[in-house]
Amino acid sequence: MASKGYIKLASGHQMPLVGFGLWKVPKETAADTVYNAIKAGYRLFDGAYDYQNEKEAGQGIQKAIKDGLVKREEIFVTTKLWNNYHRKDVAVKMAKWQNEQWGLGYIDLYLIHFPVSLKYIPHEERPYPAWWLDDAGTIETERVPIRETWEALEQVVDEGIAKSIGVSNFQAQSIYDLLTYNRHPLSSLQIEHHPYLVQPELVKLAQENGVAVTAYSSFGPQSFLEIQNKRAVDAPLLFDHNVVKKVAEAHKVTPAQVLLRWAVQRGVAVIPKSNNQSRLAQNLEVVDFDLSPAEIESISSLDKGLRFNDPIVYLPNKPLRIFA
Ligand code: NAD
Repeated sequence: MASKGYIKLASGHQMPLVGFGLWKVPKETAADTVYNAIKAGYRLFDGAYDYQNEKEAGQGIQKAIKDGLVKREEIFVTTKLWNNYHRKDVAVKMAKWQNEQWGLGYIDLYLIHFPVSLKYIPHEERPYPAWWLDDAGTIETERVPIRETWEALEQVVDEGIAKSIGVSNFQAQSIYDLLTYNRHPLSSLQIEHHPYLVQPELVKLAQENGVAVTAYSSFGPQSFLEIQNKRAVDAPLLFDHNVVKKVAEAHKVTPAQVLLRWAVQRGVAVIPKSNNQSRLAQNLEVVDFDLSPAEIESISSLDKGLRFNDPIVYLPNKPLRIFA
């Protein structure tokens, strides 16, 4: 259920509808970026082990708390378990370690980052492995069922490390399956979601089951150009699209704000990332204007089923076809 600016999770906790994404925020500047984002009004931070900046992001939040800008309970930290740590004992250990990195007492929302288990390699031995087991780029999966990992996340809640738990990059079948055995509610589903990849049925399935949807990469190709993603290079920018520009002009807002509002107005939370102070501020101002149903529809009709964050694109030697 969405109230202005917040959505109530199935766990009973409130999650801000607009947050700040930490992917590609350099660890050298992450503490300052986060501190300034809090000053600008951000209350949710979306992190992950894989983003390599949890400790520094946590330091930014700690400083803001120390300086009296916010209280811990006003901040919402999401973070994610990486693919190599799906085994139950390992997952619980990682959650504890990540929680210590943030240094805020608890994690608000802990997600399984991807529905695929990669071979375990202790993070002390090979930190931040991304998808690769070694420098030669070896990719090896491990036979760990999602149920085992989900049960580890439930233990993480039982031990008070995280308040709510969820999944990311999951699709309908694994969500239906998880909902047959979960003991704690599946509070959130984080997915790539923008007008080129609308996935209306997946969003409906989640919302019908009380699972709050968070959109990542709301600006479509924009974020992926930085990493020369092949599909993004060939896709026209959403910021320049006539349909988006027309709606932006009608409401005297920017195309970026239209793309965020298009999601938020449908109860889908967003977590845009920006290292630029004025963009950071404008991305937060997306709860105070309304698009018409026809405008929402015109934007949704740009759907091409075009996914940028697909391991098929960036793992050419051993594609993992998790979205097939
Ligand atoms: P994004 O859609 O937020 O786009 C970021 C890009 O847009 C950057 O190049 C930034 O400079 C630009 N930008 C930001 N605000 C702008 C504005 N107002 N006007 C013009 N340009 C603007 O991309 P993202 O980082 O891919 O996604 C957001 C967050 O989602 C990430 O930081 C991360 O936290 C999360 N994420 C999660 C997953 C996952 O697998 N769960 C994957 C990707 C991202």
